[in-house]
This record gives sequence, C-alpha cells and structure tokens, in this order.
Amino acid sequence: MKRTGTKATTKTTHRSGRQRPAPPEDRSYKVLNKAVGTAQHRYDMIADGDRVCVGVSGGKDSLTLFWFLYERLSRIPISYTLFPCYVDPGFEDGFGGVLQDFFAQTGWPPLRVESTDCGIVAHSDANRENPCFLCSRLRRKRLFEVSAELDCNKLALGHHKDDIIESLFINMCYAGEISLMKPFLPMFGGKVTLVRPLALADEKDIQRFAGHLRFPEFKNPCPSAETSKRSEIKALLEALYRGNRKVKGNIFRSLSNVKTDYLL
Ligand code: SF4
Repeated sequence: MKRTGTKATTKTTHRSGRQRPAPPEDRSYKVLNKAVGTAQHRYDMIADGDRVCVGVSGGKDSLTLFWFLYERLSRIPISYTLFPCYVDPGFEDGFGGVLQDFFAQTGWPPLRVESTDCGIVAHSDANRENPCFLCSRLRRKRLFEVSAELDCNKLALGHHKDDIIESLFINMCYAGEISLMKPFLPMFGGKVTLVRPLALADEKDIQRFAGHLRFPEFKNPCPSAETSKRSEIKALLEALYRGNRKVKGNIFRSLSNVKTDYLL
C-alpha cells in the first residue's frame, strides 16, 4: 500500500459542534460537492434518519464517496448514520486490515471487513462466466446481507458517471441488453435502496480530489484487475473521448433521452 500523507484527517469544528473534515483548496471539491448535491436533490437519495451501509472497495471512488457523505453530515440539516463495509474477495495479500487502520486514523466510523472467497470462486473452473461478473454479483449480495443485518435502508456505492457509461457498453457488448447502473434503485420491495451519490461526478474530478487529500492507494491483488472487460471498454471509450470532447456528455445525456419508438 502506498501512503503519502495525512491530509484526509485535517478537521475544523462546525458551528453545530460536529467535526468537519477540511475540504481541499481545489476546484475538484466544488465540482464534486455540486455533483453530489444535485444527485441528492434530483433523486432525494438520502433522507433524515436513514441508516446507510457504504460499500468501500479501497479505491479512490469509494473513499471519496465516504468523505463526502461524512463531511455533509456536519453541515446539512438532516442526519443519517453511516456503516462502511469492505467485502474482501479473498485473495492473498488483501488489504482489509490496512484499510481498517486508515478509517480509524482518519476518525471515520469503524470499517467492517467481510472476509469472503468471492474472487476465488469467480476464478475457479466451476465458473463459466466472466470472473468480474460473478465476483461483483457475489460481493454485492454480501453487501445486501450486511445491510439487512445492520438494519440499513440504503446501500451507497461509489460508482460515478464514467462507470455508468461503461456499464451500458459492457451490458450491450457482453450481455446483449441495454441497461445500466441506476443512481437510485429501490430493491427487495423497497426494503433497501441502492444509491450512487457520485452518479453525476466525473472520474477525473474524483481522481484529482483523492490526489489532493492524499488518499492511500491499494493495489488490487486480483489476477483480473488489469484485464477485465471493464478495462477494455474503458480504453475504447477513452479513445472516443479523445477524438471529440463532447462525446462523453452526449452519451450520458442520451441515457435520459431514449427514443423507444426507434428501438427494435
Ligand atoms: S477485478 Fe477481480 S476483484 Fe475486481 S471484480 Fe473482477 S474478479 Fe472481482
């Protein structure tokens, strides 16, 4: 694990008496804060009294998500409880313990680490589908189980705009369907709602924000980490974005502008 600083621990005291993590003096904070606020407003994502299980992967996205959900608590008129949870896929050299230490040092609520063999099962001969499809499904299932155990009515995940676009292309190319990750999705008859507060945020802003706060970097020990279908689609889309800077915005807008009369 690479640790380069402790900026994420810096705090100021808010007039409410709660400790407020100091935002970085960088445009990325304002841009992301606006994106999170707009998503919250548009989808009414998190309400007063919610119990929110937050899926933490150790990547910059979920750490940024947690930072914002925690920081907003100190300055918005509603209150909710956060339960961060990391589902360890079970590879050797996992980083669950180090991630737990980072949460403790930062003063965040304790991180629950769930040990599983999702990644191992996904790479076994018994699995006939793409390892990432099965691994993600199993880890998501475990997160729903933890949410139910903790009596959480929301499960927050750190997917952002780029992930949502990639999910559309992955589903079209490898599942033969047009579908994507929704920002707000009630499940199990409304018992728990999956929310993605970074749904309107760009990955590059998250990267910059995480860099300014010097979040730790964890190397994923999974053998598929660099060769997943997602990496292929990502590279394809990046080539498209480089060719025309309007492409990404247009793809994202098209997701709310579907002309069903012009589909088969
Ligand atoms: S890269 Fe590895 S750990 Fe990540 S979803 Fe794919 S199989 Fe699971």
